[in-house]
Amino acid sequence: MRPLACALLALALTGRDDPVTVQATVETDPVPSAGDAADDPAIWINPDDPSQSRIIGTDKAGGGLAVYAMDGRQIQYIACGKMNNVDLRYGFPLGGLKADIVVSGDRRDDTLRVLLVDQETGRLKEAPAGAIRLGIRVYGSCMYRSARTGKYYGVATSPDGELEQWELFEDGRGGVGGRLARKFRVGGTAEGCAADDELGHLYVAEERFGIWKYGAEPDAGTERTLVDRAGPGGRLTGDVEGLAIYCATNGTGYLLASSQGSSSFAVYRREGGNEYVMSFRIGPGRGIDAVTDCDGIDVVGAALGDRFPRGLFVAQDGRNEGGNQNFKFVRWDEIAAAAAPPLAVDTGWNPRRPRR
Ligand code: CA
Ligand code: CA
Ligand code: CA
Ligand code: CA
Repeated sequence: MRPLACALLALALTGRDDPVTVQATVETDPVPSAGDAADDPAIWINPDDPSQSRIIGTDKAGGGLAVYAMDGRQIQYIACGKMNNVDLRYGFPLGGLKADIVVSGDRRDDTLRVLLVDQETGRLKEAPAGAIRLGIRVYGSCMYRSARTGKYYGVATSPDGELEQWELFEDGRGGVGGRLARKFRVGGTAEGCAADDELGHLYVAEERFGIWKYGAEPDAGTERTLVDRAGPGGRLTGDVEGLAIYCATNGTGYLLASSQGSSSFAVYRREGGNEYVMSFRIGPGRGIDAVTDCDGIDVVGAALGDRFPRGLFVAQDGRNEGGNQNFKFVRWDEIAAAAAPPLAVDTGWNPRRPRR
């Protein structure tokens, strides 16, 4: 049978909402800490050699941040705290240069820690660039760069259902400072979040309830829409965990969510009303165990060398066979091809040259 016919038959047999299965092609070294330790990844794109891009992963059990090469090898570990979620942005103005800036929430002392990536080596600079003391207990965190104003923000969520958004700025002493831009209540425990810089949306996962969509600008207010819910009437099974945005051209692409209770990932349209598209699972294969009980995720569409020439999806694995938790890497084009109809594959989006 031809691939399209196969896909259509599979769709007819399984129904629209049943997840398709893909396989990872790379898994990282396990994190140093045992138990529920790894949580959230962020993909850093190397400006000169995309095959030397990096995955930064959190070790929340009292460890810190690990940096992995594209073959999954750990090349750096900074024991900097109970880092739960991690996100990054490019081009932050610092000392007359454009810095690649990483923000990670530290549950030891409820701060957003700011670090920088060395653009030559793809390693995190050991000296912290800043620490922002929050007014809430930190759980999840993410970043937003406004296409309207060019300002950068760190966003923190809390186990108490609160959210704080902090504007980040050069502090005049070579570091990064923060000022509170807004604070509001989401509801129940909120962790995962992700901002769409280009379209100005802030997505927040209320773990037991669903995905909320807010305006990402600090003056956007608290008006929100529910993208999807966990449990009856929704496609998600709590906890709703990590969120990530796949950017294609003209403001199109996808919003992805980790549906932890079903060990699957839901895909929605990035544009318009975030229509549900499909769900997928990462099954065992190629000598790599399945992803189950996933926390955080990240995705980019850019070409990242021979291993990931048409985009990369990274997922934390809650139960890594034979070791501590780790992260699994999946080719985006394989996820796209598993969907019926296939998802878009667009390597043209460059986060270093954001559109206005
Ligand atoms: Ca977990
Ligand atoms: Ca959680
Ligand atoms: Ca988590
Ligand atoms: Ca596993």
